[in-house]
This record gives sequence, structure tokens and C-alpha cells, in this order.
Amino acid sequence: MSDATLISMQVSERNLKHVPTNTLQVLSIFEDENINIEFKDYNLEKGNLYDVDKICNFLKKCEDYLFLTSVISVLPNLLLALKKLKETNQEKKVILGGHMAPELAKYIIKHFSFVDVITLGFADKRICEVYRRLKKGESLKGINGIVFSENNKTIITEGKVNASNVSKPAFDKINMQDYDIAYINDSIGCPYNCTFCNIPIMPGRKLYYTPIKQLRKEITTLYDKGIKNIMLSGEAFTINKKRVIEVCDLFSKEGRDIKWRCYGRVNHMNEEMLQKMSKAGCYRIFYGIESASNKILRRIKKGFTINEAFKKISISNKYIEEVVASMMWGFPFETMKDFNKTVLFIMKLKNIKVTPALLHLAPQRNTSLYNEYKKRIRFSKDLISNVTFNYEILKRKELATLIQSHPEAFLEFHHYHSNNLRKKANMINYLD
Ligand code: SF4
Repeated sequence: MSDATLISMQVSERNLKHVPTNTLQVLSIFEDENINIEFKDYNLEKGNLYDVDKICNFLKKCEDYLFLTSVISVLPNLLLALKKLKETNQEKKVILGGHMAPELAKYIIKHFSFVDVITLGFADKRICEVYRRLKKGESLKGINGIVFSENNKTIITEGKVNASNVSKPAFDKINMQDYDIAYINDSIGCPYNCTFCNIPIMPGRKLYYTPIKQLRKEITTLYDKGIKNIMLSGEAFTINKKRVIEVCDLFSKEGRDIKWRCYGRVNHMNEEMLQKMSKAGCYRIFYGIESASNKILRRIKKGFTINEAFKKISISNKYIEEVVASMMWGFPFETMKDFNKTVLFIMKLKNIKVTPALLHLAPQRNTSLYNEYKKRIRFSKDLISNVTFNYEILKRKELATLIQSHPEAFLEFHHYHSNNLRKKANMINYLD
């Protein structure tokens, strides 16, 4: 009988349920340490994923030690739900995880006393030690890479982020029929340094590759259990041609009807790679282009020009069934002229049947853009980035109030102010 529940709070795409791969990696860590823990995926709950009362009732039915992972995209709702939960269930212990920046973790522990511990970086055996000590009522001091409160002091312990020995996901512990697609970590990190993006910062500016042998094992396990749709979740997948070819060979040699998708970087793409990817089952590629203004592309250090981007997108379109080009607006130095170029580029993409995405830039902690423009960060209910699927929360007044009162905790719901922001927002609404 277990007294702990491990819960995935990962939000899936609309109409596609994601296998909670990262949480299943945590589950296998508990298993390796012979700790019996219940597993639940909140995403499989029926109804509104953002409903605070629903989250609270769900957590009430869980065991006393709550390990919640992938919490970032539902963080405001989750915190309100946890507050409610602890008002009536003080015996519950709340442990959060899921690649939180240390500054954010510290802020949460300091301002939301109903959160007991936050684990930093990639999950490993530390999480089991946290559980053992909490159970015995012992101090958590000495455990690396965690944030907690003791004697009214917020304590953050040093710890290296080590992505090289991430555990294998416990795929055997879920019913695969509940899911449509699985994200698998083919790599972690990114060697680029785009000024708005914190992905390279998280794993300490290193790039880790999952060994091909392990990838094969994960893919065949998933396939044998009925998952034929796979997303390679590494942002840097296409920057290493040799590796791309290896992965394509892996998919091809398996000879199964697996379809997969990935992220791409236009400046690394060529016809040979695209041909190979297409033959190996790649049906969708997602490119982060960000802006159609070369001035902006230079400023955010994208490493390519818009002409090069369009050329590579067009070639990709010949081979890959769905090409998605993601654009951003709202850079603090973006003029109307820059913005108009992006809008026109989107139309150009639509003309060649490429799927455009237009996102409102949200600040990301510790990036050089954030460090330079943090004084311009603002919140407005109708100017929220849709990156985190969170338009829903705006319907609830208490959530908007919470976000507004704690900008440090909810940066991704904010934006960088600039004089022409409203004009751009109006134009987007009009074009929609
Ligand atoms: S935007 Fe993409 S390429 Fe640039 S740093 Fe982030 S993950 Fe790397």
C-alpha cells in the first residue's frame, strides 16, 4: 500500500493525448529504489483541465505525499488548487518538479507556503531521498538541487543539472490505449543562443543525445503497445546531420508504420536530409522562424536570414506532409515595419500551403532579452501569449489576480511593453 502519488500535470495538444514520458521517467526512479508509488495522469481526467475546484478534488483523492510533475503550463491554476487543498487537508505534502528555474522555485517556496519542496533540474534519486526524509520528519538539508523552507527560511541547495543519465520511462505502467502520441527525448538542450529563449540555459548550455540503442528500445516498446505516432522532442534534432541520418535509419530499419515529427532549424536543412526524413516516416516538421525582418533576426541571433528561411521551408514542403513555421510578434524593439513584414510573410507561407503559427512573445527568465528589457514587462488580460494554451484562465478572475500579483512567478503570461503593441494586437485580431 502506497502513501504517495506521482501525478503528471502535462497539458496535451487539443485532440491528441500525450504519453506523459517525463513523469514516467520519474516513476522508474521510484521503482529502481523499490518505492511503491501510485501514478496518475491528470490529463486523462474528463472536463476542464484548468478548473481549480476540479484539480483540488482530484488531489484530495490522491495519497498524502503528492509529487507533481510538468507543472509549468498549469501553474497558476495548480497553486490556487493547492491552497484550497491545504486549507482542509493539512496532512498532504506537496512536492513540485519539472525543470523549474531556481529563481522561480525560490519565489514559489517563499510566497506559497502550501508548497513544501521543489526539486530542480532533471529528476534522479534525490526525489526518493526527499520522500524518505519527509516521511520521517527529518530535515531536507544536504539533499542537492532542491528548494524548501525551514525555520521560516527559504533554502536552496546547490546541485548539478545532469541530463546525461535521465531514466528510462516506465511505459509499462500506463494503458497505451488512452494515448495518441508519445514525445520522446532524442536530445536535451540547444547549442544556439537566441536571445529570447531559455532552452539552452536549463541544461547548463550543454547538448545531450539519448543513445540510439535506448531510442530504439523506447520506440519499439511504444509501437508494440500501440503507439504509432511519435514526436522527437529535442529542439536541436536537425543540427547534427550524422545523428539525423542515424535516427532515420533507425525508423527505416524498424520497418514499421511509425509516423514521427520533429523540430527543425532551417539553416541546417538540405534536400538529402529531408528526403531521408520523409522516407523514414517524418510527416511534420516545426521551424522556429520568429520574424520576417532581418533586422530582428540579427538582433535575436537566429543565425539565418528570412530569404534562407523561406528557401528551406519551400524545399521542406516538397518532402514533408506538414511544415509548420512559427513566427513571433511583440519584440520590444520591433517596429510596425518589422511587424508588417512578418504578417506578409505569413500570407506568403499560406500561399504555399505551409502552416504558420503566430505567437505573442513572452518573457523567459535569465535570457539576454529578459535581462535587457525586464523593466518593460507588463500584464494585460487580453495580451497573453498562447504558447501555454492558457487563454482559458482569463475567464477566471482569481487567476488573473494571482498572475498580476506575482509577475515573478508567472512571467509567461506577461509581455514586453512597446508603444505600438496595441496597434499590432488590433491588427492580428482583424486578420484573424
Ligand atoms: S529558439 Fe530554438 S534554436 Fe534558438 S536557442 Fe531556443 S531552442 Fe535553440
